[in-house]
Amino acid sequence: MTQAPILSAHNLVKHFHVGGWGANRKVVRAVDDVSLSLSKGETLGVVGESGCGKSTTARLLTYLLAPNSGTVRFNGKVVGPELSLKAFRNHVQMVFQDSYASLNPRMTMLDTIAFGPMVHGASAAQARKTACDLLDRVGLDPARFGPRYSHEISGGQRQRVNIARALAFNPEVIVLDEAVSALDKSVEAQVLNLLMDLRRERNLTYVFISHDLNVVRHISDRVMVMYLGEVAEVGPTADLYTTPAHPYTRALLAAMPSLDPDKRTEQAPLAGDPPNPIDPPSGCRFHTRCGHAFGDCSRARPADRAVGPHHMTACYLEGPAEPRGTP
Ligand code: SF4
Repeated sequence: MTQAPILSAHNLVKHFHVGGWGANRKVVRAVDDVSLSLSKGETLGVVGESGCGKSTTARLLTYLLAPNSGTVRFNGKVVGPELSLKAFRNHVQMVFQDSYASLNPRMTMLDTIAFGPMVHGASAAQARKTACDLLDRVGLDPARFGPRYSHEISGGQRQRVNIARALAFNPEVIVLDEAVSALDKSVEAQVLNLLMDLRRERNLTYVFISHDLNVVRHISDRVMVMYLGEVAEVGPTADLYTTPAHPYTRALLAAMPSLDPDKRTEQAPLAGDPPNPIDPPSGCRFHTRCGHAFGDCSRARPADRAVGPHHMTACYLEGPAEPRGTP
């Protein structure tokens, strides 16, 4: 990426204390030394099994959680010392998976969307006009849906309201945390199309977090694969899906459902659950499940290694990756 990043994270660490004190202190190492950067207008997909740190990374990127160490920068300014949280949140918004819990059940949809602009100084009339325009833009008739409460509309309609509410701040970056995962497939496709249209119209930058590799492939320019709180691989979508370099990425891709009967897998390529993040394995955290592991793998974490233009992996294995082709 030659362009200066609009949003970047540097060596983010987030550990959660879950019990014990002193030598018995237990911490979940949710995110360990994660760095990433996004150019304006691009979509970065983030994938991995549940518990890999995707959602914690999303909360760190939006500063809903403060990191134990590391920094987030927006347009080069460090959030906190150089850019206030209030200013940062105008630029970077988030949409969550649970569309119902994200909305105040006592507010109408119009008031929900108008709330943000009013807090930021717009008059009530201006804010309501903005809310009507945004409801219309996300495909909901303002006269019909504006006066409704969250329990009176469907999951897909609620997620459209959540997108409109995020847009009301006129953000440049939106972090979407499993934002379409709870929707049924036809509604999911409609909301994805809406997101792609909005990205084009407003030159938005997305971080798109999902466990669904097919959806991530469809929407992302680049993809970052996380395993147990660390980045295993990151690269342009086409390269990562056709020539994955990290054994974990290969296993995830091999487990993807395919419509082609010749490409269906008979055996689960990834056995068992990820290890406990309270006491992650030494060295490469994937070594307890990796079919290629050798001596060095359990001793020290492999350094990030370039395997192609903008394509990086954290694995000792060298040589050509096994091409997988289009599923
Ligand atoms: Fe497997 Fe070793 Fe590569 Fe880790 S570093 S993914 S254990 S080969």
